[in-house]
Amino acid sequence: MILLKGIAVSPGIAIGEAFILDDQRRRIPRRTVPQTLLPREHQRLDTALAASIKELSSVRQRTNDELGQEAAKIFAFHIGMLSDPSLTKPMHALIDSDLVTAEYAVFATFQQLAERFAGLGDAAFKTKVDDVYDLSIRLLKHLIGEHASKLANLKHRAIVLARDLTPSQAAAFNKSHVLAFVTEAGGRTGHTGIFARALQIPAVVAVPDATSVVTEGTPVIVDGETGTILLNPDDRTLRMYQARAERRRLFNISLSDLRDLPAVTKDGAAIELMGNIEFPEEIPSVIGSGGLGVGLYRTEYLYLASDAEPTEEQHFEAYSRCVELLEGRPLTIRTMDLGADKYTQERAENPERNPMMGCRSIRYCLQNQPMFKRQLRAILRASALGPVRVMFPLVTTPAEFRRARFFLNDVMEDLREEGLTYDPNIKVGMMVEVPAAALIADLFAEQADFFSIGTNDLVQYTLAVDRTNELVAGMYNPANPAVVQLIKNTVQAANKAGIPVSCCGESAGELDTALLLIGLGLRSLSASHASLPAVKRMIRSVTIQHCEQVAQKVARLDSDVAASTYLRDVTRKIIPEAFDGRAVED
Ligand code: PEP
Ligand code: MG
Repeated sequence: MILLKGIAVSPGIAIGEAFILDDQRRRIPRRTVPQTLLPREHQRLDTALAASIKELSSVRQRTNDELGQEAAKIFAFHIGMLSDPSLTKPMHALIDSDLVTAEYAVFATFQQLAERFAGLGDAAFKTKVDDVYDLSIRLLKHLIGEHASKLANLKHRAIVLARDLTPSQAAAFNKSHVLAFVTEAGGRTGHTGIFARALQIPAVVAVPDATSVVTEGTPVIVDGETGTILLNPDDRTLRMYQARAERRRLFNISLSDLRDLPAVTKDGAAIELMGNIEFPEEIPSVIGSGGLGVGLYRTEYLYLASDAEPTEEQHFEAYSRCVELLEGRPLTIRTMDLGADKYTQERAENPERNPMMGCRSIRYCLQNQPMFKRQLRAILRASALGPVRVMFPLVTTPAEFRRARFFLNDVMEDLREEGLTYDPNIKVGMMVEVPAAALIADLFAEQADFFSIGTNDLVQYTLAVDRTNELVAGMYNPANPAVVQLIKNTVQAANKAGIPVSCCGESAGELDTALLLIGLGLRSLSASHASLPAVKRMIRSVTIQHCEQVAQKVARLDSDVAASTYLRDVTRKIIPEAFDGRAVED
């Protein structure tokens, strides 16, 4: 039995077989083979080379017929490379000298070649790097199969292990087949976690070497509470985890009794609980979990789930579907938050050096006006059908907010001229997720109709800790006193101006940080539907005074670790069932 450790980002226990999702430019682990099996590896390599050449010949023929001789030349070049002994010989030699698998020999040889091309400095050679990768992927496909690289091809229920999971990959797979996610990259609030929580699938991220240590088909246990991964578990461990999974199931059933009860503290304060969604299909689960509406609709998933930018009609279809499913409950549509971790930089024409600080979110929309206006038109049209609010992400300066609002007004005018209906009094809010905005929240409160605090980004930008980087994941902490101060400032500014303020970051769905947020004055929380029942249970078990005392203590602690340990201990005492029945840490 092997134990791996990572960061738990979505609760629950999964027991099943491993499915390795390879990324395109993956690293092939260096696996050795016994001397006696070397002939088999040489044979595998030759077969893969022959199959790739055959495949390329038919692609060349087809391209020649459809696009002409010139276009087909590239495939002639590929065939030439695969037949060239100066490339094939070193691969065979590596198998013999290092006793490695054929796939590793392919990977290492092509990697070296790509590095040589990349290092030549000449732009013409640099483009050859892509050819080299392309060829190595083709060869590897014949050696280890393509099936392992595509989530959409996952045909049985399995635990998916990947180097990283891009939002578009996560959006495209068959959800009923994934028992759990394990990734080598990622942090607490990256999109693997957000997705997994939305789908109620356990997930653990930042597990070093997960895809090279585990082989396909290995029995695995994923513990989404503690971040533990167990490979080849023994019978005793397996029984223990089966029992825990059963206790968790019973806890979830007990939570479903709360569905129709209000989220009110013991001393009578009502907390508004809303759901975060990525897709309209999640709305029945939000309502089923007791959510009063949608506090955050991450509309960029419309974009990420397909290869093309959505049309106005596609936007409108999604939003009107939400309004319909919500049956009169409020819908908060956030305009597209593309960029950084939500836009694979490979898709970008000019990849940015530092995308987290780059042209993302509202900045991207303001620079891509036709796209932005298409979305605003659809949002406004949907506002004629039910209670819709619109909110802009990553607003940093009041001028930026004014510009975004200006576009909205412009679009209103267009719609009016076209005789299309919309809500002229639509509430226009903003996410407070950049420290600059939190610091001058009072100025923003004069312009925005509501605030929604995005702790996922607020923590990242306040602490200068990339939310998706496993190397600094230990430093990512919403209970950090600096973050607490910014949240407090934002809530106070909103209350003073009399505008609603909510929190829609993952902290709103975590029991310990939700308690802190209530103590800091928040009375509206929006989280993944899977978190809502337990948060409601916590709310119904505390008083506002207790939450405030906890928040005051956290604000006084000067250590992040002390703050989160304290919060966890307090929460564990309030709701031990959420911690596997243990009121104190083992
Ligand atoms: C946030 O930053 O807290 C947030 C809710 O937005 P996202 O996670 O989509 O960036
Ligand atoms: Mg954000």
